[in-house]
Amino acid sequence: MRACPISCTAVKQQFSTCSRKPQDVNQMTRGNPCQLPGMLPNYDPNDNEAGMKILEDLTENVEQIQQRVLEEIITRNARTDYLKGFLDGQFDKQVFKKTVPVVNYEDIKPYIERIANGDSSNIISAEPIIELLTSSGTSGGLPKMMPSTAEDLHRKTFFYNLLVPVMNKYVDGLDEGKAMYLLFVKPETKTPSGLMARPVLTSYYKSNNFQNRPFNRFNVYTSPDETILCSDSKQSMYCQLLCGLVQRQEVLRVGAVFASAFLRAIKFLEDNWKELSSNIRTGHVSDWITDPGCRKVVSLVLNKPKPELADLIEHECSSKSWEGIIKKLWPRTKYIEVIVTGSMAQYVSTLEYYSGGLPLVSTMYASSECYFGINFKPLSKPWDVSYTLIPNMAYFEFLPVKKKNEDGAQYVQCNGVCKENCMEKETEKEDVETVELVDVKLGQYYELVVTTFTGLYRYRVGDILMVTGFHNKAPQFRFVHRRNVVLSIDTDKTSEEDLLKAVTKAKVIVESLGILLIEYTSYADTSSIPGHYVLFWELTSKGNNHLPVLDPKIMEHCCSTVEESLDSVYRRCRRKDNSIGPLEIRVVQHGTFDALMDFCVSQGSSVNQYKTPRCIKSGEAINILDSRVVARFFSQKAPFWEPV
Ligand code: AMP
Repeated sequence: MRACPISCTAVKQQFSTCSRKPQDVNQMTRGNPCQLPGMLPNYDPNDNEAGMKILEDLTENVEQIQQRVLEEIITRNARTDYLKGFLDGQFDKQVFKKTVPVVNYEDIKPYIERIANGDSSNIISAEPIIELLTSSGTSGGLPKMMPSTAEDLHRKTFFYNLLVPVMNKYVDGLDEGKAMYLLFVKPETKTPSGLMARPVLTSYYKSNNFQNRPFNRFNVYTSPDETILCSDSKQSMYCQLLCGLVQRQEVLRVGAVFASAFLRAIKFLEDNWKELSSNIRTGHVSDWITDPGCRKVVSLVLNKPKPELADLIEHECSSKSWEGIIKKLWPRTKYIEVIVTGSMAQYVSTLEYYSGGLPLVSTMYASSECYFGINFKPLSKPWDVSYTLIPNMAYFEFLPVKKKNEDGAQYVQCNGVCKENCMEKETEKEDVETVELVDVKLGQYYELVVTTFTGLYRYRVGDILMVTGFHNKAPQFRFVHRRNVVLSIDTDKTSEEDLLKAVTKAKVIVESLGILLIEYTSYADTSSIPGHYVLFWELTSKGNNHLPVLDPKIMEHCCSTVEESLDSVYRRCRRKDNSIGPLEIRVVQHGTFDALMDFCVSQGSSVNQYKTPRCIKSGEAINILDSRVVARFFSQKAPFWEPV
């Protein structure tokens, strides 16, 4: 095995001591040693021009940067247990692509589990793995765990900093006020080896990079860090809203990471505005806010009784309609910063209602594995949003995915579900080759594969993206959907298979009473906050076609059995975060699923190949089912959940 050309110590030193002024990324490719490790050019994040220049350079030099990223990752890690099985200790892109397999989580899970149980992390990464990031994707019902290194926090900071100049390009004066950006930490646990296991955002907010961030005049939050870091989500929400209301005249943008979280905050406001305004009136924080950090900082923000402000809030919030409430409470708001692409698109109309038409801005596309891309046109409409992958974040490859109907087969099109499975068939072929970032083609669909600085090699993220254009030489992608996910309300991702397993457990209960479940489907009902899963069940008595008499207690038990059988992210959202409401079963009259089939066929599905879609997204199809509902039942208890 040949020696690694860049020693790991040198790499570390270069990374941490790099303090040059803004760099031309061209220099990186000319071998500037300062730029080598992690390839993060240094610049002042308050300097918009420097930030834009970095983005231009990064997107202009995609091919060279990707080459260098791969070279650096491989050179650093060639002697890890994982890679040395495939490579002979040196960098050779062709050998890498030929011998290192494209993998799913199940393939790397044994390595992750070894690290969680105390093995040295250098089995996958030369840089020590300092924590495991619990993803909202699950494996065997539990969150997948992604490796993370200390250095990777700098990569995330670099990425966040780049969002600022992009926003400033489109919206003026963001340094003349604050952001009411509602951020939350989630529960965390320790693995047997003592590593923290927690969601990526919790990890970031708890890091030095966030807590000791340098002042950036474009990024001043109304929420003091103590309120963000409070582990009691109710106290955190209450305090952040209180601070946001008190500083309402300074707020220029509002938001949360995902649309679902922001809507949950609006619902919380609806339920708690009287108490919030009473605190503002008296200048005294409610006694149930017992977190010492929160009490202290919120008392400082409240400062003194503000009866006029309390009157105004009460006046606005007591109005019958909450249409446009955001603009009324925070009159200087220029936009709402929430991700509304992917499964979050279902919240666009509700957000539009509350916002009174403010732009909805999805700034970035990221995951526990890696931060991927930035929306270079932040004011574009949600359905037009594309993300430009930032080439120094990871080495990106793409598995071509066939578009629906490309092979001539007919797929059920009424809800956009079946086509996903059909696409997947294509990518599962052994011989499918990946395409590089610079080689993707406009209009084509791909599944994203990443090789990261943190120990993932040719890892299938599970996201399907479509190429919509280019910024300089960097391709831009629309998020199409996540492989295999049919239902999602918040960060939960339920697959058709998960749903089938859960329904199978619940139907045993009615079967023992002589009742058969003859068909089912589902949809994510987000018409109320929080949203909830709805299952449509067509039931019949054994031996005849009659609708059986249903005992509500039994049906409620079916609802909770489904919930108990869903994965731990669903159960956490439902029990701990309260971001998902009780699951509902709607029993439909006999013949309903025939009517659904007729509808799908009328929309172009082939009668021969028709399969009942297990999740419905089309409004018309939902109406067909809803108009035939004969009984509704809700889960009466939240499912079991504990941090793992
Ligand atoms: P997690 O691993 O729990 O952090 O979830 C990451 C996943 O969330 C990604 O792989 C995507 O499926 C989804 N996601 C993240 N950002 C976006 C976005 N901007 N638009 C659509 N989906 C997103």
